[in-house]
Amino acid sequence: MNIQSDVNIGLVGHVDHGKTTLTKALSGIWTDTHSEETKRGISIRLGYADIEFRKCPDCDEPMCYTTSKTCENCGSETELVRKVSFVDAPGHETLMATMLSGAAIMDGAVLVIAANEYCPQPQTKEHLMALDVIGVKDVIVVQNKIDIVSKERAIESYHEIKEFVKGTCAEDAPIIPVSAQQGANMDILIEAMLKRIQPPERSLDKTPLMHVARSFDINKPGSGAAKIKGGVIGGTLVQGTFKLGDTIEIRPGITNNNKRITLKSEIIGLEANGKDVEEIGPGGLIGVATKLDPSLTKADSLSGSVAGAVDTLPDVLDSFTMEAHLLDRVVGTKEERDVAPIKLKEPLMINCGTTTTIGVVTSTKKKNIEVALKLPVCASPGTRVALSRRVGARWRLIGYGIII
Ligand code: GDP
Ligand code: MG
Repeated sequence: MNIQSDVNIGLVGHVDHGKTTLTKALSGIWTDTHSEETKRGISIRLGYADIEFRKCPDCDEPMCYTTSKTCENCGSETELVRKVSFVDAPGHETLMATMLSGAAIMDGAVLVIAANEYCPQPQTKEHLMALDVIGVKDVIVVQNKIDIVSKERAIESYHEIKEFVKGTCAEDAPIIPVSAQQGANMDILIEAMLKRIQPPERSLDKTPLMHVARSFDINKPGSGAAKIKGGVIGGTLVQGTFKLGDTIEIRPGITNNNKRITLKSEIIGLEANGKDVEEIGPGGLIGVATKLDPSLTKADSLSGSVAGAVDTLPDVLDSFTMEAHLLDRVVGTKEERDVAPIKLKEPLMINCGTTTTIGVVTSTKKKNIEVALKLPVCASPGTRVALSRRVGARWRLIGYGIII
């Protein structure tokens, strides 16, 4: 069986509702690893965890589903059904840009809602809207913290959730009560993820295209020059394959003396699910080691780029025209207001793939909006971008655009 994951599943929802705890319950991995995150107790960057969904051959559904190699019920050895990469998105309202760039690499999502709080909380709503806007269709709702509420409150919370998801992409989503902390109902949740979130069709014969979500300098401080390892990028390959020895190009690249230089380098290492491989196709989150100067890749400096074969990537755009589709109401705040039309000269936050940039509106003709970008994007016509506007002190999602 393929070493790579078949599908990327996002964990989204309001801060403290239990996304990281749920990832831990399923994978054993605590994804809040950055020191700054640990200090603040929130996920700032995207966390990843690779998980195997397994099935016991001797037990009935749903008890047979597990992530463990031996069945907790009967002790039999379990069989691998699907490899999954979890993307743990931050739930804090200041981190919507990260959540939106994470949504670009999600094939499906689990919306975590804590049963002990009224539903919807602001980012519960904002994240569901973001899934809708970005076009993530396969959604499962988890009603978490069921261990600390009464039966009456659990039922009330269920009705609040049902009412809230009406008319959204989660309207028909199953609502699964769990306790992430106690690991309760994980089998039912795994069954739902297996049945509801299907691996996307990805073409192997197209030219490779990778969305870069993270980039790293993996050298320890003080490594001698002879031992320095090249820069590493992490993300998801949406089409095509990468092989050891391939030359790749990364766009938009870097700007030096007002000149844009795209980055080219050789692939010297490939990693999927923690294992070194020689060739990689679409699916899951991957790591690509290059010969690039690690100072170019440190601290996520290349997140938001795209990587692929030389001279095959979409054009780098400093401006574009899009057909804009606005939401009726601004969500994510306690008091909601109508979305006003886009105005000339206003700055918009634009999320395109894993890139976050600011676009200043230079022309508005009915639905067609032209923007000049502060940071360029690498995207082809037809690409969907998420649009946010400054409301009070924060960027709020107001709709999406299709690049013309
Ligand atoms: P995130 O911000 O959505 O990633 O939330 P975390 O996973 O960091 O959880 C926030 C807090 O809620 C932590 O103190 C967890 O221990 C707690 N928590 C998460 N899941 C449960 C649960 O099922 N039951 C209870 N009682 N507490 C939980
Ligand atoms: Mg978290």
